[in-house]
Amino acid sequence: MRECPDRQCPLWAWRMAAARPGRQPACSGPDAPRRALRDVRRQCMTCAGGRAEVRQCAAREACALWRWRFGVRPQTYRRVRQRFFAPRMLRLF
Ligand code: SF4
Repeated sequence: MRECPDRQCPLWAWRMAAARPGRQPACSGPDAPRRALRDVRRQCMTCAGGRAEVRQCAAREACALWRWRFGVRPQTYRRVRQRFFAPRMLRLF
């Protein structure tokens, strides 16, 4: 893992984050969670090939990134989806 040569991988900088208990990971700072989600999204876009393909990804149990494939926290995605599909008032003009 440490010697992984694929520096083009969006997750390369995160590969040792969990393996360093008590030490500061390479990717740290107040915006680290957001950057991690963005990098997961980039990885999924590379893996699947497009937004529609990422949405339809069926790797549910097989891939550790599946729950985060939209680049947001799963609970955020659920809230946005509920808001999007919620019934709305009909506007006639
Ligand atoms: S969740 Fe799907 S698209 Fe994302 S990395 Fe895993 S298999 Fe690829």
